[in-house]
Amino acid sequence: MTKEELRKGTDLFLLDLDGTVYLSDTPVAGVAETLSRLREEGKRIVYLTNNSSRTRAEYVEKLTRLGLFGRGDDVYTSAHAAAEYLTSRGARRVYALATDAVRAELAAAGVALGEHSPDVALLAYDTQLTFAEMKKFNEALASGCLYVATHPDDVCPTDGVPMPDVGSFIALFERSSGRRPDVVCGKPYTVMGECIARKYRVPAARTCMVGDRMHTDIRFGNANGMRTLLVLSGETTRESMAAFPDVPDLVLPSLAQIF
Ligand SMILES: [Mg+2]
Repeated sequence: MTKEELRKGTDLFLLDLDGTVYLSDTPVAGVAETLSRLREEGKRIVYLTNNSSRTRAEYVEKLTRLGLFGRGDDVYTSAHAAAEYLTSRGARRVYALATDAVRAELAAAGVALGEHSPDVALLAYDTQLTFAEMKKFNEALASGCLYVATHPDDVCPTDGVPMPDVGSFIALFERSSGRRPDVVCGKPYTVMGECIARKYRVPAARTCMVGDRMHTDIRFGNANGMRTLLVLSGETTRESMAAFPDVPDLVLPSLAQIF
């Protein structure tokens, strides 16, 4: 697929964050201007991240500071997908491991949070986690309630050593409880894809997932019937992409080259 075909056939661009539009605290060169042109062409831009440790407001603040957030843009995280999944299923009481800010966001989205006899245990990226909470979460899993994780990433990139992410906690709770999540919401799974299609009312065939990771971003786009654009501004190279089963519709050095 050419970049002209990709642009013409896409109404909604889903953009991964780190490695795609910025590297840590630096915008990828030329991407801010590219986003302005896409908005001028009437394209909708939604930032899509698996990271469930931060709220929409926190991401909007960062993207605005970096000159990447424009009129009509939105941010959607795996915690938002989890909230929609749980409220649509009528979850009665959810014991959630999540940061205070994300807990407040879940509650505002209508998720009934509580720790006594929950029917759902929700594992989000809780960077304030204590041992007492891990113990309670393990007890909830032992009770047999539905087990939902926001996303599967093992580590979260930093400037130095990558930090343990939700996938590492999934492994920990598997050792202690023998259970793996019944549902994982974020990339590369379909829960978040279905949420996006409902929320923004754009068919998957006219949605393009743009990202730098083959096994999350590109797998997500393909699993949800979207177009996919792999950018080489993050962790994947032309050599390393061959090791993955998925094939993106287009590969570019960075999103800035889409014009
Ligand atoms: Mg990335």
